Amino acid sequence: MTLEIEQFMCRSDNFGVLARDPSTGETAIIDAPEVGPILAAIERTGWTPTVILTTHHHPDHVEGNLALKEKFGLTIIGPESEAARIPGIDRTVRDGETFRFGSGTVGVIETPGHTAGHVCYNFADSHVAFTGDTLFSLGCGRLFERKAPDMFASLKKLTALPLETIVYCGHEYTQSNARFALGIDPTNSALKTRAAEVDRLRALGLPTLPTTLMQEMATNPFLRAHDPVIRRNLGMEAATDEAVFAEIRKRKDIA
Ligand code: ZN
Ligand code: FE
Repeated sequence: MTLEIEQFMCRSDNFGVLARDPSTGETAIIDAPEVGPILAAIERTGWTPTVILTTHHHPDHVEGNLALKEKFGLTIIGPESEAARIPGIDRTVRDGETFRFGSGTVGVIETPGHTAGHVCYNFADSHVAFTGDTLFSLGCGRLFERKAPDMFASLKKLTALPLETIVYCGHEYTQSNARFALGIDPTNSALKTRAAEVDRLRALGLPTLPTTLMQEMATNPFLRAHDPVIRRNLGMEAATDEAVFAEIRKRKDIA
């Protein structure tokens, strides 16, 4: 299956996404940050949404749930452990589960860290993953409900996906993430190239997403705790990867 994808901005820096299987017409809304831009995307594409896939319970990801459900009678899927906080939820999913979407399947990857029950959705047949507020381009989500070891393990689950996986994220944070990343990994030429590309895109008002897992592995400091240069720059040559990750997350929180 080749997914058709429409990505657009909602609120100030949230991404809205519609993903459609052209062979069946089934269309998923990945998180519902804001009704207006989602309705505009539905109108623009002519696609009829059949399901909302919720990554986590934060208001900037579920605000549109009830209005969209009322209008389209769609099904809302989300993480079991956050069900009580996801408006209109019809069906809960857990780690490792798969469900049908169109002519393919979607894998559920639980990624606690940003929230305790956050899930990512992996459209393995299309090599497309929606990582919500767990993995951003050049960044990762803030640790609101879990601590660094959980997020480190969650990101490891994502980096086990095929490198060619195309990654869509919950927010357009890439430009500020790039500035932080360059601070701890200033000699990384792939990162420098990406940062320049991000500046160019943002100057044109264009999104910096999607990215690919391969690009993130080469540039995203939160996926590179093993990198000798980063470890040396942090003075943490002897530390565990998990401790290096925790330090990078801590520095970003106060950056
Ligand atoms: Zn969030
Ligand atoms: Fe968010």
